[in-house]
Amino acid sequence: MAEVGAIYPGSFDPVTNGHLDIIKRGIKIFGRVRVVLMVNSEKKYLFSEDERLEMLKEALSDEKDKVEFDKYSGLLVDYCEKNNVYTVIRGLRALSDFDYEFQMALTNRSLNEKVESVLLVTNSSYTYLSSSIVKELAGYNADISQIVPKNVEKMLKEAFETNKQD
Ligand code: ADP
Repeated sequence: MAEVGAIYPGSFDPVTNGHLDIIKRGIKIFGRVRVVLMVNSEKKYLFSEDERLEMLKEALSDEKDKVEFDKYSGLLVDYCEKNNVYTVIRGLRALSDFDYEFQMALTNRSLNEKVESVLLVTNSSYTYLSSSIVKELAGYNADISQIVPKNVEKMLKEAFETNKQD
């Protein structure tokens, strides 16, 4: 199997067109990207780990040869060390992301100096796009067809329809 050039960690609850754009651009730079679902038992998610991974896989089915998937609960730097991959892709939207991503990148490098973070600037169409906004819009039954892939739109519809019946 070809070597992975970089990993792209995140919660992807759910994956949006903003994430997909970063992954596709990551592939152009690094050849092969591994999307790593970071599992945090403290956080509450709308979708289960399996659902989130399944949505990612389906949305990236056209890139099958250049993308792979994994999940991990633990420190990112430990994942890097265990898997021998030290380039971490993250996305930057507005200034509000900068502080957090800067802090994470510095922290990760101080924990393991081999770990390099590469921050890719968002596509201007997705500057204000986040998984939280998508969920909020879906909860109001708003049109989200331009900001998430088709399979995610369907999953969100189902999730909120089920919730309504509760
Ligand atoms: P996390 O909980 O690790 O922040 P997310 O799934 O929310 O996980 O995001 C993963 C990465 O993708 C983060 O670096 C985030 O800044 C980036 N990202 C999220 N949405 C966008 C977007 N619309 N454009 C560019 N990057 C994005």
